[in-house]
Amino acid sequence: NKVDNPYAGARGYVNPEWKAKADAEPGGSRVSSNPTAVWLDRIAAIEGTTGSSSNGSMGLEDHLDAALAQGAGYIQFVIYNLPGRDCSALASNGELGVNDLPRYKAEYIDPIAAIQSRAKYAGLRIINVIEIDSLPNLITNTNVATCATMKSNGGYVQGVGYALNKLGAIGNVYNYIDAAHHGWIGWDTNFGPTADIMLQAAQASGSVRNVNGFITNTANYSALTEPYFTINTSVGGTSVRQSKWVDWNQYVDELSFAQAFRTKLVSVGFDSGIGMLIDTSRNGWGGSSRPTAASTSTAVDTFVNQSRIDRRIHAGNWCNQDGAGLGERPRSAPASGIDAYVWVKPPGESDGSSTLIPNNEGKGFDRMCDPTYTGNERNGNSPTGSLSGAPISGAWFSAQFRQLMANAYPPL
Ligand code: BGC
Repeated sequence: NKVDNPYAGARGYVNPEWKAKADAEPGGSRVSSNPTAVWLDRIAAIEGTTGSSSNGSMGLEDHLDAALAQGAGYIQFVIYNLPGRDCSALASNGELGVNDLPRYKAEYIDPIAAIQSRAKYAGLRIINVIEIDSLPNLITNTNVATCATMKSNGGYVQGVGYALNKLGAIGNVYNYIDAAHHGWIGWDTNFGPTADIMLQAAQASGSVRNVNGFITNTANYSALTEPYFTINTSVGGTSVRQSKWVDWNQYVDELSFAQAFRTKLVSVGFDSGIGMLIDTSRNGWGGSSRPTAASTSTAVDTFVNQSRIDRRIHAGNWCNQDGAGLGERPRSAPASGIDAYVWVKPPGESDGSSTLIPNNEGKGFDRMCDPTYTGNERNGNSPTGSLSGAPISGAWFSAQFRQLMANAYPPL
C-alpha cells in the first residue's frame, strides 16, 4: 500500500525548531516555511534533548504530533547513529563505538520503529534518510582505520540492513539510503562497487523492497546542474574530463549522476520503482560570482574554471563552503527518476567547527573545516574553502545562513 512517490501531492512538515532559528535572522522568513529534515543524530534525540547544539526539546513523537497538527502530508527524518559513525571525518563522530551494533539496534532503531509505527501516524508519509556517508566510506576510505574496522566487522552493512528491515516493515514509512554525491562516487571504480554494497545492505534487511530510493548530495555542495558544460563537452579537442576540476570523473553534476546511479541500482537488483532525492539545501551557487555564460577559452582548465557554477576550490571540499547559496526549493517530481529536491541538511546548521571547540556532544575537530588547512589526498591537497568562525556540527551558524540566502539560486 505504499505510494510510488511519497512526496507527490503532499505538503512537507516544517520543523518549528529550525523555523525559529531561520526566522530570527534578517530576511529569514523568506525561506523558513520550507520543509527540512529532522536529524535523529543521537539516542537522546528520540526523546528530545536539553543542552544539545543540534536538536531541541522536541523528540520524535513531538515532531510527528506537530506534523499531524500542521496537516502535513509527509515528514522527513535522518537516521544517523551507526556504530563508528562517520568513520573518515571527525566533525560528526557519533556516540556509539565500533562494536556497538547491539546498542544501535536495541536503543536506537527499535524505539524509533516503535514510535513511527503508532496507529495515529498511519496517515502521514514518514520518510527516513538512512545513514549519511556510511556505505560509501566502505568503498573509498578503508585506508582510514575506523572505516576498515566498520567494513570488516560488518557494523555498517548490518546496521543499515536492520534499520531498513524494521522501518521498512511499517506501511507508511519510506526508506531512502544515502548515496554520497558525484564528486565522491562518480568514477567507475567507485560507482559499481557502491551500488553493490547498497544491495548487500538491502539483502541484509531481507528484501530490496525495504528500499524506496536513494538520496545524493546530502549536506554537500555539488551543483544540481552545470548549465555551461556537460561531461561530453570538449574544448580545443580536449574533453572536460581531463580538466583538473573534473579529474576524469564521469559526471559533472548531481542530476546527471543521480539519474545514472538510479539506472545502475536497478540493474544490480533494486526495484524498478525506486526514486532518487537530491539535497539542494546548499548547492545553489548564485550571487555575483556565478558565471552567466560558458567561457570562450580554448584551454580546458581555464574553460572549466570560468564556466562552472560550483565555485569550490576542489569537489572534495565539504565543510561550510564559502560562497555557497541555497539551492532549488524543495519540490516533488522535478525530473525523470527524481522523487524530489529536498532540504535534508537544514541550512544554517554548521558542518563542523573551524577551530577546536571543546564540547560534551562527541563532536571532534576536522581540519577540513579549518580555512587555514592545506588539505589531504581526499581534496587534492587543496585549501578547504571553509568559512571561519563556525561552531560545532549541527549548531546554528548565523553568518553561513546569511550567505546562503544572499547566494541563493534560484534567487529569493
Ligand atoms: C551533525 C548533526 C546535525 C546534522 C544536521 C551533522 O553534521 O553531526 O549533529 O544534526 O549535521 O545539521
